[in-house]
Amino acid sequence: MGTAVGLKPLPFLIAGEWIQDTPSHITHINPATGEVNYEVCAATEGHIDAAVHAAQKAASNPGWRNMLPHERARLLNRIADLMIERSDLLARCQMLENGKVWKECKNQVANGAATFRFCAAAIETLGSEITPPRGNYLSMTVYEPWGVVAAITPWNSPITLTCNKIAAALAAGNGIVLKPASFTPTCGIELGRIALDAGVPPGILNVVPGSGSKIGDALVNHPLVRMVSFTGGTEVGRRISEFAGKKIIPAVLELGGKSPHIIFADANLKAAADAATVAIFEGTGQSCTAGSRLFVERKVYDQVISMIIERAKSLRVDLPDAPGAQLGPSASFSQREFIEKMVNGARNEGAEILIGGQRPADARLAKGAFYLPTIVAGIRNTSSIAQQEIFGPVLCAMPFDNEDDLIQQANDVSYGLASGIWTADYKRAWRVARALEAGMVWINTYKQFSTAAPFGGFKDSGLGREKGLQGIRTYQQVKTMFWSMSDTFDGGFSIAK
Ligand code: NAD
Repeated sequence: MGTAVGLKPLPFLIAGEWIQDTPSHITHINPATGEVNYEVCAATEGHIDAAVHAAQKAASNPGWRNMLPHERARLLNRIADLMIERSDLLARCQMLENGKVWKECKNQVANGAATFRFCAAAIETLGSEITPPRGNYLSMTVYEPWGVVAAITPWNSPITLTCNKIAAALAAGNGIVLKPASFTPTCGIELGRIALDAGVPPGILNVVPGSGSKIGDALVNHPLVRMVSFTGGTEVGRRISEFAGKKIIPAVLELGGKSPHIIFADANLKAAADAATVAIFEGTGQSCTAGSRLFVERKVYDQVISMIIERAKSLRVDLPDAPGAQLGPSASFSQREFIEKMVNGARNEGAEILIGGQRPADARLAKGAFYLPTIVAGIRNTSSIAQQEIFGPVLCAMPFDNEDDLIQQANDVSYGLASGIWTADYKRAWRVARALEAGMVWINTYKQFSTAAPFGGFKDSGLGREKGLQGIRTYQQVKTMFWSMSDTFDGGFSIAK
């Protein structure tokens, strides 16, 4: 796929059909160059209704609903194979749309394919359960699909986040209406094409790009949608949760973060400084798990901050397809505006900008939404730059005096997604890890992920878990069965005959 100005707007997918005749389009701007990439057809509320009905019809077809686990696994493995075959195309869709560097985009395709393979293996091996009886019967727990799942994704890592949702939801036997963010519509569309080509029945995976504020409510509130799986910002998540509460359907929410990354004086400081640099600047800081609040024990604070400044200076900010590029642009010009507003606000309140705090001087990058790796110091944990998620390459550095002071500051935030601890003392690592209010704790490492490990947040960072075996169960509802082994009815009061 190249830039395609003047070509027909790209279609989306409902019931296996490509929809091209729409009243409005999304004009997609490349954040690295400011140029138009292409136009994409935008779904209306009418398309949402059609997509949900298509998913409902396809999901209730016995051929899909009762598909044997090994057959379902074969389909998922075929999707993984096609993702690898089309890896350049998928990676390019993401790179053009959110400016992520090429190597990271390719890695995300490989990881997305691995997620499908994990779900294939899991669904073949995850069984029903026999539960202990309290009478002459067999009691069983079985797991069934919800029906139609609305999957709503953000723009920062569309390949990874879409695969997390659709691999598990397909493994669990649901029908899906996927609404990608309007900044990143085509990764979802291409994954929809791959699923169709792999043999997933038409209507099981529908992809309807469009603005969340225009079509989001229609999707979440549609009476046939029985579950919502949402990744995005906390405010939209709260709104979706309210609607889901009214409908009495589950909403899995993967939301924002402002994660504490903690370095004690006894840590391997070189490794910790390397990790602190990667934890915030990888993906240009547009990662929900970014280690955006750095807490360093006061006696090594100056030393560690100097080490991170040196590393940040060496990072290569460049066009996403430039060989060796480490940071691309922000995913949109509006996102960079927000980052600038936050950093300038802190500066005006007296914060020290130790490095960055501006756009790069390189003329080749002037038309893109670039912003330099930035370290902000001289702030308190209660300041808005340390409390609000920025979703950009901005590290807030703060010293701490002792373990109690650290835990109080680390937990003093509305979010609770991830955290990292660097120390040579394993007992302290255990104590701090258990005290942190976060869904994930990395100890002497950061941002290690596994498709086999559950992922999700505490507090305002979300509800429910994706990935791992729990992530498949998320997309299933539980049914308990009692099966009598007696020729008489043994339950309740006795009937006189
Ligand atoms: P966003 O909340 O603005 O949008 C996310 C998705 O929701 C988009 O598809 C958007 O169109 C849609 N949407 C918007 N309004 C809606 C509505 N009323 N009803 C239904 N859908 C609606 O988030 P964003 O700016 O795209 O993404 C950045 C946010 O995502 C950050 O807060 C980041 O931390 C979070 N995020 C979380 C995780 C995680 O796993 N916890 C992963 C990545 C990103």
